[in-house]
Amino acid sequence: CIPDRTNLCSNRILAAIPPDHHVDSSDNTLLSLETLSLGGYLSFHDNYHAAKDFGNTYHFLPLAVLHPKSVSDISSTIKYIFEMGSGSDLTVAARGHAHSLQGQAQAHQGIVINMESLEEPEMQVYTGELPYADVSGGHLWIDILHETLRHGLAPKSWTDYLYLTVGGTLSYAGISGQAFKHGPQIDNVYQLEVVTGKGEVVTCSENQNADLFHGVLGGLGQFGIITRARISLEPAPKMVKWIRVLYSDFSLFSKDQEYLLSSQNSFDYIEGFVMINRTGLLNNWRSSFNPKDPHQASQFSSDGRTLYCLEIAKYFYQGDHTDIINQKTERLLSELSYIPSTLFLSEVSYVEFLDRVHVSEKKLRAKGLWEVPHPWLNLFVPKSKIIKFNEEVFGNILTDATSGPILIYPVNTSKWSNKTSLVTPDEDIIYLVAFLSSAVPSSTGKDGLQHILNRNQKILDYCATNPLGIKQYLPHYSTREEWKAHFGPKWQAFLQRKSAYDPLAILAPGQRIFKKAK
Ligand code: FAD
Repeated sequence: CIPDRTNLCSNRILAAIPPDHHVDSSDNTLLSLETLSLGGYLSFHDNYHAAKDFGNTYHFLPLAVLHPKSVSDISSTIKYIFEMGSGSDLTVAARGHAHSLQGQAQAHQGIVINMESLEEPEMQVYTGELPYADVSGGHLWIDILHETLRHGLAPKSWTDYLYLTVGGTLSYAGISGQAFKHGPQIDNVYQLEVVTGKGEVVTCSENQNADLFHGVLGGLGQFGIITRARISLEPAPKMVKWIRVLYSDFSLFSKDQEYLLSSQNSFDYIEGFVMINRTGLLNNWRSSFNPKDPHQASQFSSDGRTLYCLEIAKYFYQGDHTDIINQKTERLLSELSYIPSTLFLSEVSYVEFLDRVHVSEKKLRAKGLWEVPHPWLNLFVPKSKIIKFNEEVFGNILTDATSGPILIYPVNTSKWSNKTSLVTPDEDIIYLVAFLSSAVPSSTGKDGLQHILNRNQKILDYCATNPLGIKQYLPHYSTREEWKAHFGPKWQAFLQRKSAYDPLAILAPGQRIFKKAK
């Protein structure tokens, strides 16, 4: 297998796809695919939606889209392609909610599997001492939230945005402000059902087919398609005290974040973000947060400064006394060094808290600003290098307001499983730094795609030339050497798993790690 570089430039733009593309009827492969006996169906025409994702810059048109009804639809399709051997160059990409950034859920001239149409298993919630939910790989987290809440339960670990599928987030990690406490979503799964690149349906867990289980979690879709997952649950909070405070000094900000990470009875959610040269910042918060001291807050001016916002939340449960929660929260806050006038609080239901990004999505959609290119860059920075990283990146490279949030928060990876395929820097505490930019289509200015891509590259170049030991999260590379460096000591195991579970490199071609052997 060699890295697939051929798709890199030629197919990036949708306009490059012939608008009247149709399947060549002489293509025996496809004709024979049509003879497969499926509960769902394959569609061969008008599949342009399958050549789109949230990143909105990479567009690879597939030959067909499979809308599976059952696991056996997925398994027989893959088995069929596997049995054709190297005589066919068909590949298969599972497509969850297609919130990938660079075509990772696409398959150039291959088959895309629309995981959201998978109708089994029906979601089931099991109560008891160790409650869990059995869900399909194509279920959205928002639907899992609503279903589990009916039983007073909920998953422990989340992403900031819930319109993502189980298979999609488990192929990376699934990280949000709860990950410091519970680990990422991949550490909160008891069992998976997976269809391998040979078409075999395998159940796996810590105790059964453990190598496949660990490989698939964080495995970028390389070893199998997740068709079912058993997700660990906990009693669901009722309400959330949601707090934001500001810092102008990064070292105080990160010191407080790290303190909260390790303190007993800390908050239930810890994140943070950077704001560069924003005006009227606190005013914008007023629609959802209340200042603790309105007079002092009105005196605060954010103009022209780089500020760091600590975002924290305390959950409360049925039967909790508000006074006690308030006392605990105040005690924790009294130990922090934020700018006192910038304490803003809010109390919302658990659903409102978890589904907060959807509120922004609706606003952006209304302005036509959701379906724009998203040149995102996500990095894991080791704690020992975060001060240096902050100085260079927020002091020199990024000096102007950005279009989109920049998240920055630490997690304690010493509690995370190191058996999964996820790669993180080799330190106990690492920071997730996420540059979540939106580009204005056809702009050639600072908010244009090329400008943002250049800026991302500057950040990556800085990290490479002053070796900081960073790793990309949601990694995107185009050469074998880069992937090898990314995986470091985990590369050999990754290769071995690929040859064991997907020896013909049929799965997830959009990650561009392996190219199907011919
Ligand atoms: P897709 O884009 O459909 O697929 C992603 C990859 O997984 C592809 O390679 C695909 O082939 C493979 N895949 C999909 N389904 C399966 C399956 N069933 N089995 C095997 N492989 C499969 N991530 C975080 O960790 N934390 C966040 O807070 C967070 N917030 C986000 C907010 C937004 C608005 C967006 C757009 C993304 C965010 N992400 C976050 C990133 C997100 O977790 C990943 O992009 C994830 O892959 C999206 O899920 P999806 O269902 O859209 O996957």
